[in-house]
Amino acid sequence: MKKLLSVVVPCYNECEALPYFYPAVSKVLRSIPDLDVEYWFIDDGSQDNTLTELRKLHDNCPDNIHYITFSRNFGKEAALYAGLQAANGDYVVVMDADLQDPPSMLPTMYQYLADGEYDCVGTRRVDRKGEAKFKSFLSNMFYKVINKISNTAIVPGARDYRMMTRQMVDAVLSMTECNRFSKGIFSWVGFRTKYLDYHNVERVAGKSDWSTRSLFKYAINGITDFSEAPLSIAVWLGLAAAFLSILGIIFVVVRHFIDPHSSVFGWASMVSIILMLGGVQLLCLGIMGKYVSRIYLQVKHRPIYIIKEKK
Ligand code: UDP
Ligand code: MG
Repeated sequence: MKKLLSVVVPCYNECEALPYFYPAVSKVLRSIPDLDVEYWFIDDGSQDNTLTELRKLHDNCPDNIHYITFSRNFGKEAALYAGLQAANGDYVVVMDADLQDPPSMLPTMYQYLADGEYDCVGTRRVDRKGEAKFKSFLSNMFYKVINKISNTAIVPGARDYRMMTRQMVDAVLSMTECNRFSKGIFSWVGFRTKYLDYHNVERVAGKSDWSTRSLFKYAINGITDFSEAPLSIAVWLGLAAAFLSILGIIFVVVRHFIDPHSSVFGWASMVSIILMLGGVQLLCLGIMGKYVSRIYLQVKHRPIYIIKEKK
């Protein structure tokens, strides 16, 4: 019996890329004879003609090409989650709409899963050609930091482009947290993952929406979702300050006995110390605030996305 492969594609303002995407992917997938294919395009509240393009695709092939459109932009993570929930396949592959995830890798990915040795085949970019130096530097720093402080391994350069078995998809879906950091979630659920390397490919059309600022925010979210280490900073800074203050007290007492008139000096250093401690306290409060805000969002149990139309 033929197995079903679901292709999940988050789309945000991708009307220029979509006309290239479907022909390229379907051509490759037709070359795998033992697979039926269904597509789930998730229109993540696009402001351009993405939905019109998706309707066209659906009308040409209503049984296999489906789309979900959100009531507004909920972000790629939400779109991925909606797509994984909708997918019916024995295997599910997640791909970007801009053909930066080379479709030519699909047969190899499928072969690894079909052989049964792996539950997931991920992809890893080995270079960042065409990307700003500063952005690459920040990304490298991020992977170094998060892998030091988190128990969940985050593979450097790993893309969301991956093919999974039904078992792994169900495991990913069982994580219902509203702060969804996919790179962490895919790794957290475990299973045997094979990574394939490839060289960076430029977008086929349209433009990427990631500014350095949004990447930075993404990195902070990843760290707070998958590590408690920043919370320990408060403990260590507190201990260090307490230790220094003991040294300070000893110093002041000893100096008083050596030279009883010296204690009028030192108000400048006092001000610096007070300022520094105030800063450290605010920093620690801020770190705690980050975690509290995530608890706050989670306990509200808001839906991760809202569907306007599903076909
Ligand atoms: N995307 C999305 N919602 C968003 C931003 C992006 O669904 O709010 C989709 C986008 O359409 C694309 C994929 O996520 O299919 C990756 O986005 P992009 O190409 O901008 O990121 P990059 O390739 O630079 O990581
Ligand atoms: Mg892209």
